[in-house]
Amino acid sequence: MGAKPIPESPDTRADDAAPTTTASGACCWCEDYPREVSTNARQDYYRRFYGGAAASGRAPVKFRLIAALSTLEIKVEIRFHFVNVSASLEQLPECEELTRAGANRWNNQLKIRVEDPECGTKDLKVVFMVVNSASSPHYTIKLHNPIPPTQTDKGDTVLGRAYVVGDVMHVGIDTKEWTFFHEYGHCFGLPDEYGYSDDFTEQVVYLRPDGTQDPAIGVDRPAQRTSMSTHGIYTVRARHGYGIAIELQKLLREKLGRTVRCTVVKPTT
Ligand SMILES: [Zn+2]
Repeated sequence: MGAKPIPESPDTRADDAAPTTTASGACCWCEDYPREVSTNARQDYYRRFYGGAAASGRAPVKFRLIAALSTLEIKVEIRFHFVNVSASLEQLPECEELTRAGANRWNNQLKIRVEDPECGTKDLKVVFMVVNSASSPHYTIKLHNPIPPTQTDKGDTVLGRAYVVGDVMHVGIDTKEWTFFHEYGHCFGLPDEYGYSDDFTEQVVYLRPDGTQDPAIGVDRPAQRTSMSTHGIYTVRARHGYGIAIELQKLLREKLGRTVRCTVVKPTT
């Protein structure tokens, strides 16, 4: 007896994506549904608390979400306009390359389970994309040399650090891939998981697609070092997919008219 071949994982088989029609006539896993998302992530995806009270503040996010049911993919497409501010023009293409490399680090990390009462359950992988668009960008990336100083919430002056404010990302010619990866996370709605203050009661709480809250992340407990907390760390957690799952669930419920449920199944924690 020879060794049996290891079967392919069911959700990677090509025929798994083949459309089927149910008895009631619904065509399952057939259509692709695109939508422009524009929301306040600090309200809809997470909250920041001080002393148990949610702090006000906005974190506007914009991106294009495509529920590509026919290929079992969820595409997060972000359009960027690259602008040279004080670097040399030749440095812009490298900035775009680093933006793509940073975004690519989010790929093959997240999978969202779609439970459709009519069509059954499938796991869809989340694909992150960068599109160069000067005419209708979601964000403008401004390339500086050097990045001008900024002020923190506490009023401290920070020199030469990349950041996103509103729909502008400020980067420098020395900004590295990890920073582009981290800032791309902000662009689809993720918060910093480090504290903005010395207040030990400061917490970040993610909202789940089922409407419940994830356990609070305290700033005095940097136990879970992630992509959104610590320089050089590429760790992605399930909570980093919640916002996309929230938007996907809303989109599919509207388009299909059924109580579809979306949950993040990869990573498992
Ligand atoms: Zn950040």
